[in-house]
Parts: sequence; C-alpha cells; structure tokens
Amino acid sequence: MRRLLWMVLWMLVLSATRVERAGAAENLWLETARSSITSHELRNHVGVLADDMLEGREAGSRGGHAAARYIITRLEAAALKPAGAHGTFTQRFQGRSQNLLAVIEGTDPELRSEHIVVGAHYDHVGYGTRRNSYGPWGYIHNGADDNASGVATLLEVIDALVHSGHQPRRSLLFAFWDGEEKGLLGSKHWMRQPTVPIDSVRVAINIDMVGRLTKGRIAVIGTRTGTGFRRLMSTDRLTGETWLDYPWEVKDNSDHWTFYEANIPSLCIHTGVHEDYHRPSDDVEKINFEGMQEVSRYLLEQLCELADAEHLPEFRPAARRETPESRKQTEAPLSAMPSRLDFAWQYVSGKPVVEQILLDGHAAEAGLVAGDRILAVNGRPLMSELPAAVLASESEIALEVRREGVAEAIVLSVPLRGKQIRLGLSWRSDEAEPGAVYVTRVIPFSPAARAGLEVHDRIYAVNGQSSLGQQEMFGRVQKLMDEEATEILLQVESRGVLREVAVSLQLPVEPTGDSTL
Ligand SMILES: [Zn+2]
Repeated sequence: MRRLLWMVLWMLVLSATRVERAGAAENLWLETARSSITSHELRNHVGVLADDMLEGREAGSRGGHAAARYIITRLEAAALKPAGAHGTFTQRFQGRSQNLLAVIEGTDPELRSEHIVVGAHYDHVGYGTRRNSYGPWGYIHNGADDNASGVATLLEVIDALVHSGHQPRRSLLFAFWDGEEKGLLGSKHWMRQPTVPIDSVRVAINIDMVGRLTKGRIAVIGTRTGTGFRRLMSTDRLTGETWLDYPWEVKDNSDHWTFYEANIPSLCIHTGVHEDYHRPSDDVEKINFEGMQEVSRYLLEQLCELADAEHLPEFRPAARRETPESRKQTEAPLSAMPSRLDFAWQYVSGKPVVEQILLDGHAAEAGLVAGDRILAVNGRPLMSELPAAVLASESEIALEVRREGVAEAIVLSVPLRGKQIRLGLSWRSDEAEPGAVYVTRVIPFSPAARAGLEVHDRIYAVNGQSSLGQQEMFGRVQKLMDEEATEILLQVESRGVLREVAVSLQLPVEPTGDSTL
C-alpha cells in the first residue's frame, strides 16, 4: 500500500517535471528567436535601403530595383521558398514595378493550406513631387521610416523564424509590396492576380512605418476587423514602457486596406506619423532602432501565435460602421457612484475628522457632530482605509469618535446609503471580443481599485476560466464572493499588455502601532 502511494507520488512528480520542461522548451525557441532580432541588424537593413544610392526607391526606378535586389538577396540567404511568378521571388506589374513574395509553408496537415499574409511596402517617393511629398521637392526622399523600417522588420522576423527552427502550423506568405506610394498598386495587383487562393488568406498584417517608436506606443490598427483579434494581439512580453494602441478606425492609407476590402481580417502595425513624413528628412539618423527591435520581436511572437492558433478571427463586417465617435459611445464609462455617507470628512494630520453633516440625514440622526474625530470603524482602527470600510459594510457602520469636551470616546451606529460594494467593478461586453468584458467603472477605494484596475481594462479570465461572457463572468464572480473567497484572480489586459491581477476581497490590514489621537 505504502509502496503504491510512493509510486503514485513519483509519477505525479515526474509528470509535473515533464510538463514544466515542455513549457520551458516551448518558450526557449521563441526566446532564442526573439533575442536573435537586434537593433544592430535592423540598422544595417535600414542603412542600405535608405541610402542615397537607392534614390528614394520609387516603384519601377533604378533605386527601386536595387532595393528589390537587396531584399531578394536576404530572402535567398534565409533559404526562403520563392512565391512569385514562375518559381521566382518577383511578381511584375505595370512594366517595371514588382512585388516580392516568399513563403514559409505550414506543417499542419489541415492548416497548412491557410495563409497569413505579412507585408511591407518597399517603395517610396523617389525625388518627391508636389503630389506625393510635403517638400522640398527634387531631393532624394530616403523614406527610412516610410518604409525601410517595415521592410527591415520583416527581414529580421523572417531570419529569426528560420533560425529558430520553429515550424508554424499555417503557411506564412511574406510580401514586399511595390507601388504603395502610387496608390497601393502592388497589393491591389496581387489581389487581382493572387499567388495563393484569396480564400486561403485568413489574416493580413501590414507593417508600415515602425521606425519612430515614441512614448512606447505601438499602434495595432484594425483589431476590430476580426472577432477576438484584440485578445490574440495582446501580450505579456512587451518590455519597458511599450504598450499597444488599438485604434478602431481603418483607413485606406496603406496596403492593409486592400485586404480589408476583400473581407479579410487585417491589421496595420505602425509607430506614428511625424514632421519628416514624406519629406527628404525621413532619414536613418532619426530612426529609433531600439524601438524597432521591440516592434520586430512583438511581430515575431504574434505571427507565430496566429500561425499556430486553433482558431483565427473571423471577419467582422460591422467594423466598417465603427468610427471614433461610435467608440466613444461604446466605451463611455459609467458615472461615479453616489457616496454611501451623508457626511463629509477629511484627514487632519492623517486622521479622519467629520467636517460637514447633511441636515436631517442618517448621520445627523445618529448623533454625529462636525468636528468629531473618528478613532475606529466597526471596532477596527481603520484610519487610512475609512472609505474602504464604508464600501464593505452592509447597511451601517459603527463609528468610534472623540468629541471635544467629552472625556470618553463615543460609539455611534451610522446607517449607510445604497448597498454594500464587494468588488467595486462594473463591466460591459464588446461584440468584437466575445468571451471578454471591458471595465466601465472602478469604484475608488474598492477591492478592484486597490488591485489597480482601471476603466477600459479588458478582463479575459476569472480564476483561470476564460471565454466568459458578460453574464457568465458576473455569475462566476458572484459565486466566488458568495463562497467567501478572499481573492479573485483576473487576467487583465490594459493597452495591449496582459497581466494577472489578484483582487483581494479582504479589508487591508491597518499598520498597527501608534494611532492615538
Ligand atoms: Zn508607407
């Protein structure tokens, strides 16, 4: 019997170790791949592509062709499979313009026929004209940010993927578009003459201008074009101050538009426009290469996640009707909760003192007087957490006060308005993200507020259970509180960053010691 028990224990230990190792191995290739992307290599790519020698890479020009040759050399070095016309990397259009295409084929027997298209345009505006440049015209426009940065990012991601040895389940089609600056010509040509069946394209990602990361903001435009896209694009791997902005509006300003028009969930990754946009001063010296490294590592991770995901976002036609205005309406926070107290108080040298009392209110009726110094709430010396105690109490609080001219402390029972606040969180569902909710109100001093939750945060899981709708999540939380759980664990996303938040349902422990008044 005893031996059997030991065996069972050993098996448990062994299987636990195995799971841990599998997890570590899984992370290992990604970590290796991520760290193989360096700002140094990104700088090399941008340095070549944004050199004066390439004369601004206008589609069909000498410089454009030189840029294409550089990209093809890199694709060959990575031993990528050509996916253009007749077994080459190129797809010609309008004479001398050319898209460059390469593929990493998926390995899953069923999913390999599906494609994730990842593209970046490599052309720019050459010497600039009144039509395509803010001037001065007639000078080389190097387009270091627009879009040597996107091309460099894609090249580095390809390199990292190839060298990691990771085999994605779905196929990844890499596209270096030409003629974007002339009206998305390259991607539109591809859409007319696709090199893989259009309906095999499940997601399209466009990388355009990622060289000017500022204040940590990476814009991930278009998550609302696919159901559950935002959740898929959120991560816990961003470093430093980096965060993701998820604008609702999708514009026809780059190649993602071509795919969006074809009802394909589409994204554009972008770090913002600036004063050098479409001017000769968009140069390599102004590129934030550390920022590009961050963007490239993020893209690599997300690409693998999309390629390997069990389910991918379905196209949301409703995205076409969504505007910044409808966003404002949808995401509007709830108004603040009215106070449960009908007296005002404030801290005087760190201790709460009653200031004003509503005439004919509960507190007046209970005998509270302005100037009373609060010593304890519900028998606890909760000096700094009086508001939390007020929220957590059911229908009244016992206040122990000291009144001027009265020797003994007085205990008063003060009725409270409204109902007890156990969590202090309100939320609403979002049809673009089924099985998740977003926060519409956090009551100050509540457990939710103390845990650092904020309006607009997204909640993806409760105690490890995900895919909960608005009502389900409500029921789940309600049940946990009824079972007198002391803590609820939430998976929270704020501005693209995923984290686990432990919400303590207990009142904070007051530091003991000198609290004499
Ligand atoms: Zn561009």
